[in-house]
Amino acid sequence: MTKEFKRNSGRKPEEMRTPIKAEVGIIPNADGSAMFQVGKTIAYASVFGPKKMHPQHLQNPAKGTLRCTYNMLSFSVNDRIRPGPSRRSTEISKITEWALEPVLMIDNYPNMVIDVHINIIQADAGTRCAGINAAAMALAHAGIPMKSIVSSVAAGKLDKTLVLDLDKYEDSEYDEGEGSTDIPMTFTPDGRLTHIQVDGKITGKQLKEAVELARKAAKEIYEVQKKALKEIGEE
Ligand code: UDP
Repeated sequence: MTKEFKRNSGRKPEEMRTPIKAEVGIIPNADGSAMFQVGKTIAYASVFGPKKMHPQHLQNPAKGTLRCTYNMLSFSVNDRIRPGPSRRSTEISKITEWALEPVLMIDNYPNMVIDVHINIIQADAGTRCAGINAAAMALAHAGIPMKSIVSSVAAGKLDKTLVLDLDKYEDSEYDEGEGSTDIPMTFTPDGRLTHIQVDGKITGKQLKEAVELARKAAKEIYEVQKKALKEIGEE
């Protein structure tokens, strides 16, 4: 008999962290805002705009610009993080733009910019996914025309076992067998990928399985986001 794979947290391989929470309209000063939480990871997103792009040389007459700024607050992890931009935050900001752009009707806003500020209040891995989930809701809340929102989650591999939604220990400290692989992904509600990254090693066959696992989980996240947007719409 093969021994059942045990995660440090006690979760089953295909189990996301809990709680999964979403709330829309939490920052009155913003044109749109939202919070997304999964386990101990919490992201806040606020949208400002569309507004005229300044300085003028950055204006694009063909379409608007989505500008995302991802920031992990210095107290979001135990070892205080030095405030200000870093290579990592610049990369995640870009990734966030790429994950959101396919659903955004950005052509409607030539010479304009839509600013999305993502702040990670608490970080226990999966912060880029939580940030994308919050940003998608905040953009919808701001009334920016979108084909749909998007939902983001990571799948991955611990040694040889495929798992969903890695936490910090699994992402950074797990070192048994083949170690860990983290694959953050973003999906439209009809299951199309708008973003995928692979951090670690995985075979083509397992990658396909990981995408399927995440696609299913993204649907669950979408339901939570949709409910939060509906609640604010009814207020
Ligand atoms: N982390 C940290 N300090 C840093 C960067 C990351 O403690 O300077 C932690 C944090 O908990 C983060 C996790 O490492 O959520 C994983 O970071 P990664 O770069 O893989 O991105 P994420 O999984 O958060 O999208």
